Amino acid sequence: MSEEKSLNFLEEIIEKDLADGKYTSIVTRFPPEPNGYLHMGHATSICLNFGLTKKYAGYTNLRFDDTNPVTEDTEYVDSIKEDIQWLGFEWKQELYASDYFDTLYKYAVTLINKGLAYVDDNTAEHIAAQKGTHTEAGIDSVYRQRSIAENLDLFARMKAGEFADGEKILRAKIDMAHTNMLMRDPLIYRIKHTHHHRTGNKWCIYPMYDFAHGQSDSIENITHSICTLEFIPHRELYDWFIEKLEIFPSHQYEFARRNLSYTVMSKRKLKQLVEDKHVAGWDDPRMPTISGMRRRGFTPQSIRTFCDKVGIAKRENIIDFSLLEFCLREDLNLTALRAMAVLDPLKLIITNYEEGKTEQLVSENGPDEAYGTRIVPFSKALWIEREDFMEEAAKKWFRFAPGASVRLKSAYILRCDTFDKDETGKVTVIHCTYFPESKSGNDTSGIAVKGTIHWVCATHAAIAEVRMYDRLFKVEIPSSEEGDFKDYINENSLTITQAYIEPSLINATMQNRFQFLRKGYFCLDKESTKDKIIFNRTVTLKDAWAKEVKKS
Ligand code: ATP
Ligand code: MG
Repeated sequence: MSEEKSLNFLEEIIEKDLADGKYTSIVTRFPPEPNGYLHMGHATSICLNFGLTKKYAGYTNLRFDDTNPVTEDTEYVDSIKEDIQWLGFEWKQELYASDYFDTLYKYAVTLINKGLAYVDDNTAEHIAAQKGTHTEAGIDSVYRQRSIAENLDLFARMKAGEFADGEKILRAKIDMAHTNMLMRDPLIYRIKHTHHHRTGNKWCIYPMYDFAHGQSDSIENITHSICTLEFIPHRELYDWFIEKLEIFPSHQYEFARRNLSYTVMSKRKLKQLVEDKHVAGWDDPRMPTISGMRRRGFTPQSIRTFCDKVGIAKRENIIDFSLLEFCLREDLNLTALRAMAVLDPLKLIITNYEEGKTEQLVSENGPDEAYGTRIVPFSKALWIEREDFMEEAAKKWFRFAPGASVRLKSAYILRCDTFDKDETGKVTVIHCTYFPESKSGNDTSGIAVKGTIHWVCATHAAIAEVRMYDRLFKVEIPSSEEGDFKDYINENSLTITQAYIEPSLINATMQNRFQFLRKGYFCLDKESTKDKIIFNRTVTLKDAWAKEVKKS
């Protein structure tokens, strides 16, 4: 977008830091925990972190925050990398917080040596109970006064595996009466005899998030460590560790989490949808995951434009899903190939067209001439959309009805004469007359019609399964409703139909994006095969939900 935009608050901070000479270049990181697939919230963070270093000529690291050994998996690591690259960003280094376990262990020893950390034998529950409240100070642990030598010995034995999970814990020694509860002797290392996806069985003690994140930032010389608002209270602790350890002063900045209407955006909740089989997987096209949206046919450009348009905020808000779809339509309108498919077919027979004859008509491929043209076959029997015919024309009806004439896109003008019905009263076929001199591009018929519709030749059409998606939830903010968020799932979010597609679509590739004329934007699904072609509807041409609102 070329429009002049004012700086967001992070850009202001960065420009000031650069102007003041605080840094000569900036370094950010994107720090996912590999415990699920990335969603649109992460896309915001990715566009922000990578966007800033692109703008200010710095770089961004991809750092897997894999300090919690239980929930992590290499499947997630791989999907995260694929998603970032697909969005169009490149990280400088691929790093893992677990690579710093040795350094973090040394940092913990440094704190012990400075009298700033101690081993506590109490259980986590007991420690929590002694933490106090916002109005009441906490209680010092009886282990708080352990000597440095004893702490060093116990911590080494924790590492050596001498104790069971939960038997001992390392805490920072700050202030049990601190106004910030997180500063009340926070836990920094716990015992967990668990296999880690990268370090294997080397460690049985693992650093807590707060003792890993800031230090990892510091190790990588991250200048601007950007996170979401819930980390505001953690900032004081982040700074405390860096100050006491006398390491590179990274700084933390917070922005509001991105929320989207009609969906949920927490890996934990998305995982429930997958595990309870409400969706077909993390990349189900209804999911707000990057992989789901990719499969659905979203373009990276549309997601980047969306993130750019919405910008960042310091207060939480809900962004309308329609805005994302708007960005998608804008992009697809400029880039999608045009093709014809009939989703709810009604047979059309041209009475005065020669039996067995086929014409190869020429139709434009895309939004402008640069896309060239393609051939579409035309013959006596065609498929049109059932909704393009009415037994009796209504007022302002410009499509087929007995006596009404309509142009078939890139073909001829046809007049509907009669129709047949079956015993249930359903229209089975309409009979039309075509006007040979009305051929598109060379129309000398002098006939004026108001409607143009799409069609597919019945003799040459291929069959495809078409999957159409609607919002995954019936309410704007499922997680704020009473009861379980899953109670608000839209049971009709997937509709599968059989469609007739023009023969050129047999050669569609996964990279192609199509506008099926008058029907929306479509792309091949990853399950599509030569024998069973499957298209996903990415988005309708217009916002159906906006219409709903106006109607009601
Ligand atoms: P979730 O609750 O879905 O697991 P998370 O914040 O725990 O989200 P992480 O993998 O820890 O997920 O996050 C990686 C980065 O993405 C963090 O910097 C985090 O702040 C950011 N992020 C996650 N969700 C959002 C969101 N909804 N909006 C903006 N940024 C987000
Ligand atoms: Mg998390």
